[in-house]
Amino acid sequence: MAAITRVLESQQFILGDEIESFEKEVGALLGVREAVSCASGTAALEISLRALGIGSGDEVMTTPYTFVATAGAIAWTGARPVFVDIEPETFNMDPRLLDSALTPKTRAIVPVHLFGCCASMKSILQFAREKRLWVIEDTAQAIGARYDQAAAGTLGDVACFSFFPSKNLGAAGDGGMVVSNDPGLAGRLRLIRNHGSRRKYDHEILGTNSRLDALQAAILRVKLGSLSVWTAKRQERAARYHELFADRGLERHVSLPHAPPGRTHVFNQYVIRCHQRDNLRAFLNARGIPTEIYYPVALHLQPAFSYLGYTQGNFPCAEAASAETLALPVYPELDDERQNAVVGEIAEFYRLQR
Ligand SMILES: *Cc1c(COP(=O)(O)O)cnc(C)c1O
Repeated sequence: MAAITRVLESQQFILGDEIESFEKEVGALLGVREAVSCASGTAALEISLRALGIGSGDEVMTTPYTFVATAGAIAWTGARPVFVDIEPETFNMDPRLLDSALTPKTRAIVPVHLFGCCASMKSILQFAREKRLWVIEDTAQAIGARYDQAAAGTLGDVACFSFFPSKNLGAAGDGGMVVSNDPGLAGRLRLIRNHGSRRKYDHEILGTNSRLDALQAAILRVKLGSLSVWTAKRQERAARYHELFADRGLERHVSLPHAPPGRTHVFNQYVIRCHQRDNLRAFLNARGIPTEIYYPVALHLQPAFSYLGYTQGNFPCAEAASAETLALPVYPELDDERQNAVVGEIAEFYRLQR
C-alpha cells in the first residue's frame, strides 16, 4: 500500500523513477545489462521480434506446446510460426528436430522454458549459432530458473518475461519485460515501446504504446524482494510432492516432473502426466481440489493457426502431452495438510479404479 500511495502522490504514472528502478533491479537480479519493461509478456515477444527486424516473409521456429502468445506474437509480426515437436520429458522444444524444420526463410528460434524449467539451450544455441539465427527466450514461466548456473533469460539474444498474476513474479494486472546484453537492441526496444520516441513528438521509428504502468512497477518492486523465498518454497513443495507420491507407490499411474542435470526448475506449474487424466481431474474437482490443464490443445490444432496447414499427428509428443498432463496446486503458501489431501485423493482415485 505504501508503494501504491507513493505512485499516487507522485502522479508519475507513465515511465519515470519507478520504472527505471524496477528495470535496474530486475537487470541486477538476472545479471543482464539491459532490462526494458513493457505492457505484457505477449508485448515483450512482439516488440523483441520487431526490434530484431522479423516480419513478413520470415519464418520463426517455436514449440506447439506453449501458451498461445508465443506463436501468436510471431504471427502478429507477419512472420510464419514453424512448429517443432517437444521432448516428452521436459515438454520443451526438441533441438534434434530443428534441422528438419529449417528453411532459407528461417530467421529465429523461440524456445519456451515451460513450467519453469529451461529448454535444452546448449543444443539450441549451438544450432542457432551455426545457422545464424536469433534466439528469443520465452521466459514467461521461468523467472529465477537456471541453466548451468546462468539465469534463464541470459542465454539467448533476448528474453521475454511476463508479470501476469499467475507467474512466479505476478503484478496486480498485466506487465512484461525484455532483457538483453545488447545495448543497441535495448535502445530500439525503448523506442518501440514508446511510439518510436525519445523526445516528445519526435518519432524516430515506428513504434507502439507498450509501456508498463508505474503502479505495476511499484507493486512488482515490493514483490521482487520476496521472489527468492517464494521460489524456494515452490521448490520445497515440489520435492515434497515427489516424496508423497513415492510413499504411496503411485509412480505406476503418474510420472512426475523433474529437471535434467544442470537445470534449476522454479515450478511455475507442477505438471504430472497421468492415466485417465480427465476422469482424475473431475474426481479431484468434485473433492474441492482445483487443477488445470496446460495445454489441452496443442497450438498446431488451434483454429487460429489452421492457416499454417498442420494436422493431427504432425507433433505426436505435443499431442500426447496435451492429453495426459495435469497441473497440481503449487504455490508458496501451500501447506502440508492441503498438499497431503491432493496426493491422498489421487491415491484414492487410482485405488477405486482397480
Ligand atoms: C504467460 C505467457 C505468455 C504471455 O504473457 P502475458 O503477460 O500474459 O501476455 C507468453 N508465453 C508463455 C509461455 C506464457 O506462459
